[in-house]
Amino acid sequence: MIRLTDIYKRYEAHTILKGVNLTVAKGEVCVLLGPSGGGKSTLLRTINGLETFDGGQMEVAGVKLPGQPCPEREAALLKIRQKVGMVFQQFNLFPHLTVLGNIIEAPIHVLGTSKDQAIQKAMELLDRVGLKQKADSRPASLSGGQQQRVAIARTLAMNPDAILFDEPTSALDPNTTAEVIDVMQDLAQAGQGMIVVTHGMHFARTVAHTIHILHSGTIIESGPPAKVFDSPSHEVTRAFLSDSGTHG
Ligand code: ADP
Ligand code: MG
Repeated sequence: MIRLTDIYKRYEAHTILKGVNLTVAKGEVCVLLGPSGGGKSTLLRTINGLETFDGGQMEVAGVKLPGQPCPEREAALLKIRQKVGMVFQQFNLFPHLTVLGNIIEAPIHVLGTSKDQAIQKAMELLDRVGLKQKADSRPASLSGGQQQRVAIARTLAMNPDAILFDEPTSALDPNTTAEVIDVMQDLAQAGQGMIVVTHGMHFARTVAHTIHILHSGTIIESGPPAKVFDSPSHEVTRAFLSDSGTHG
């Protein structure tokens, strides 16, 4: 589903990603962990085409993505953005649209879905994230956790093969964090592929198929949660997990 080979990313003189190799199967739930500044957000943004890259190869949903701006990259991005959705820390809902309006926008304008069909699907998705009764509300009237669940429903409306979550609960209080984690857990159990950057160690341990540790721009360790959490092979992983209060 997603295959990155030796990916490099630079900002001016700084090399942020230094030869990242990552393979994600269809339906696989990956959690990306590692110290702040290690390049996790940059990696997700690169996969979704929000950032160019400077070396290596990337293939997403069977489409090869060139690293640098060119017509082939534009064409690849149109396809990839239909297959890979992204959920950000700050929700990024359109404030002037209702909840329903936010969800039907891309299916209508990008996929060419009819309005009736888009609304029907949106209501199903709102039901799935527990917010059917909020369809006509504006985002600003919702709690952070509700807004994030709308953002997830909006992403699901595109039927993505994979969803990239960048710290989706880090702006939320513990109660609303739990609501969002519950939704993500349901999706994972229903076979939704995802790459999740999170501080939610319980989610990482209980829901992820694969943990990847990203440190200073490279993936230093990967494996099933039981292996990475209980017998990490890298000193940086041990230090990171011990700081996160999950090990030792
Ligand atoms: P993480 O998500 O793991 O905390 P980031 O991907 O946000 O890490 O950042 C990795 C490094 O890249 C940091 O040193 C950060 O300062 C740098 N960086 C991120 N975005 C930019 C940018 N747009 N321009 C320059 N440097 C950036
Ligand atoms: Mg980040």
